[in-house]
Amino acid sequence: MLQCTAVTLLPPDAVLRLTTPEADSSADPEPYVLCELGEHHDQRTEHAAYLRPGRTPDSPALWFYWTGSGPQRTHRAETAPWCPAVLRRLDSGLVRRCALFDHHTAAHSWDVTDPLGDLIAEQFVSGDSPEG
Ligand SMILES: [Zn+2]
Ligand SMILES: [Zn+2]
Repeated sequence: MLQCTAVTLLPPDAVLRLTTPEADSSADPEPYVLCELGEHHDQRTEHAAYLRPGRTPDSPALWFYWTGSGPQRTHRAETAPWCPAVLRRLDSGLVRRCALFDHHTAAHSWDVTDPLGDLIAEQFVSGDSPEG
């Protein structure tokens, strides 16, 4: 399943919530966020972007949810517990946890492919081109 391609601009109040007092003030938080869910076509399904972690890796993280775009956009920033799903690989014994929030729509994170991320990874691998 491909990743949803929705992108939205964070409202100023959500950006403010990302800047913590101890954070370096010269590091501006990225105002654009990408939906991290697998493709979803139901208009009522909210897009969701991970904003920041909770106090511990297991704590609920802050997510930004939105529907629609332009003047029709509605949005909210809320903490959500993690999806409890885990993927256990029988050959290696590795366990992957779903990187999405609980009760998310579409597929778990390991079934979502990010075409852009794959492209970047490929460039890393073939970066040392023998041509030229
Ligand atoms: Zn989406
Ligand atoms: Zn999941």
